[in-house]
Amino acid sequence: MTSQEIKDLTDQYIMPTYGRFPVAIDHGEGARAYDPEGREYIDFTSGIGVNALGYGNSKWLDAITKQAAKLGHISNLFYTEPAARLAEILCRRTGMSNVFFANGGGEANEGMIKLARKYSFDKYGAGRSSIISLKNSFHGRTITTLKATGQEVFHNYFFPFTEGFLYAEANDINAILEADELAARESEYFGKDEGVGGAVCAVLIELIQGEGGVLPLNQDYINQLAKLCEDRDWLLLVDEVQTGVGRTGSLFAFQRYHIKPDVVSFAKGIAGGLPMSGFLANEKCRNVLTPGTHATTFGANPVCAAAGLAVQEILSDEFLLEVQWKGQYLREQIEALKLPCLGKTRGMGLMIGIDVQEGYGNKSLAARLIENGLLVLTAGNGLRLLPPLVITKDEIDAGLSIMRATLS
Ligand SMILES: *Cc1c(COP(=O)(O)O)cnc(C)c1O
Repeated sequence: MTSQEIKDLTDQYIMPTYGRFPVAIDHGEGARAYDPEGREYIDFTSGIGVNALGYGNSKWLDAITKQAAKLGHISNLFYTEPAARLAEILCRRTGMSNVFFANGGGEANEGMIKLARKYSFDKYGAGRSSIISLKNSFHGRTITTLKATGQEVFHNYFFPFTEGFLYAEANDINAILEADELAARESEYFGKDEGVGGAVCAVLIELIQGEGGVLPLNQDYINQLAKLCEDRDWLLLVDEVQTGVGRTGSLFAFQRYHIKPDVVSFAKGIAGGLPMSGFLANEKCRNVLTPGTHATTFGANPVCAAAGLAVQEILSDEFLLEVQWKGQYLREQIEALKLPCLGKTRGMGLMIGIDVQEGYGNKSLAARLIENGLLVLTAGNGLRLLPPLVITKDEIDAGLSIMRATLS
């Protein structure tokens, strides 16, 4: 099919939920993607932070094809080796105790929220189920994770939303304390069983707000927050759906912040392009979710888990250091271009945000770059780059020259 035929068929038969760029992608290799007519695009997006190993990685492909030939699916009523091994590696590399495997980021966060509420219920009884999240966050598209998302624009159309979420300004520990007081006042006013959240049981954060504009939280604030959570026995829930799996130059961003979350979710890059997600729990939380309290049919799929193992094998500690260097190089080179439309860069590893100057729109800049053969993303009011973690210096340079040629 031609690009135009694919576009027409899509627009007729797929729900119009996405604002798509007028490009169809057919195949790829490394950090290069191609449309059906053979036009080349340098990929600074990895899907949206998913294709950690780029396109057509031979180890990944080999792992998937071998596993698909052996066993493509069996329910979680039985044991399988790929999931068991992936779970072990993730726990060993993070110091966490065990894992629940799911399929997408929103679903993983939803499970993490369930865990937090059950932890509190088991220990303290009803009336302590509010969760504080941060303004400008993004946690998913299910009814509950939309409500957990601290942006009013997402709290629309789909009423009634799940109760028991409060929002605090990021990087302000007093805002957390104020949200806690608000929760306490509400629960006193409404009583324990009126469907409000009651007192606080957990705080949910992204260490670098991704969709919000690639905004890293301050180290001081994170230290204070971790201490506060420990003092009050609030679970510290870290949403690493975007920052996890090597994206920031360590396996998880919490390792670069030197904190120990109680529960941490992951998704996007975990299986290098196949749908998989999950959340890791520490020792305190390892037995909160028990038979009958949580499940998902596709979770821990053996093909996805085999892909996840291939990703883990490639993401060695040396490889992760390279991710840090490549990210630093890319940021320095972008700033050195001194393009009139772009400002400062931010981020960690290969998760990079670029400010867009007044008078320019991030969406139209992205559209122009894509038209000229460089795939980029937007976030907040800026541009966002999430290149495959395997991107080479040559591929980075090829992307930079398209940037220079397009935006000078
Ligand atoms: C992408 C993302 C999600 C949602 O993941 P889905 O797989 O689309 O459900 C949740 N949280 C963060 C931080 C994300 O970046």
